[in-house]
Amino acid sequence: MITAIIFDLDNWLSAADESGEALYEPAFDAIRSANQGTLSDGALNAAFADAWRHPLDVVARQHGFSQAMLAAGWKVFAKMEVRAPMRGYADLETLTNLPVRRFLVTSGFRRLQESKIKALGVAPHFTSIHIDALDEPDRKGKQRIFSEILNSHRLQPEEVLIVGDNPDSEIEAGNRLGIATAQILRPGIPRGDNATHYVRGLADLKCFVLQGS
Ligand SMILES: [Mg+2]
Repeated sequence: MITAIIFDLDNWLSAADESGEALYEPAFDAIRSANQGTLSDGALNAAFADAWRHPLDVVARQHGFSQAMLAAGWKVFAKMEVRAPMRGYADLETLTNLPVRRFLVTSGFRRLQESKIKALGVAPHFTSIHIDALDEPDRKGKQRIFSEILNSHRLQPEEVLIVGDNPDSEIEAGNRLGIATAQILRPGIPRGDNATHYVRGLADLKCFVLQGS
């Protein structure tokens, strides 16, 4: 029986690009200016498309950014924030119908992630919220944060479900800890092969939790 669910934020509770593609444009411009012929236009555009689904450090490594490109993008991302209210996916309101303890763990630049949580107004729905901040020293990573949540709330791995969109991030971390995982297949999210379950939305999670518990 599942008594706690650990949620991811981007592309799961809300689309990373809900605030409009213009949000990342200043960072992409800065990276483009620092490119100096390192990557072709096509390669740069492929990297930018990935930046909506993966952390900047991972994108930089996988696409071969120079140090200058990463530094230029980093500087802009670290100051970025969402100011307008966000709605999240249409089924977000059903979050509160899940009779479990809810936790939110999200990776990214602290200021941006915090501004999105505020813009969505979801903080009251969670027992605790944890930001795996790219731009702070001694970054814990999702796996360690998950372990700490289980320890501090005396949860056994078999009563927890980890829900997210990224096979290489939260799904892999859950697998390493022996915690069941559910990959969300929101529009545009490719299906991985390492999750315990695959779901389309929040309503699908109801079958994992005992009603009224
Ligand atoms: Mg995500």
